[in-house]
Amino acid sequence: MENCIFDMIVAGEIPSKKVLENDRFMAFHDINPIAKVHVLVIPKTHVQSIAHISEENEGAVEGMLSFIRDVAKELGLDKEGYRVIFNTGEKAGQTVPHIHAHILGGEELSWPGM
Ligand code: AMP
Repeated sequence: MENCIFDMIVAGEIPSKKVLENDRFMAFHDINPIAKVHVLVIPKTHVQSIAHISEENEGAVEGMLSFIRDVAKELGLDKEGYRVIFNTGEKAGQTVPHIHAHILGGEELSWPGM
């Protein structure tokens, strides 16, 4: 997709602080972290959001959870725990129209009832 900043990161047109990459996914540090560790995971193929997954493009995100697990391990978060968030659509605060998982960790994360 033209002008998608995450497509530009995949293409190397915008620099990123890479954590892990394979032929289908990329993980890099969020430019504006909201936790001690804040990393984004994206599929290299453009899909706008979870709401836009279809039979035609679902291959682009297949295996994404396993990649997220590998990224969390690479970051050393696998033992202490971490949070994974997919903001989906306007009301959820999705600002970049390219599926991305936020991995948050490295500290105690608040949650109602905790
Ligand atoms: P969301 O609000 O769920 O769409 O999340 C988009 C995230 O992308 C935000 O947390 C931004 O800080 C982050 N972001 C935007 N541009 C960049 C960039 N060039 N490199 C790294 N993270 C970015």
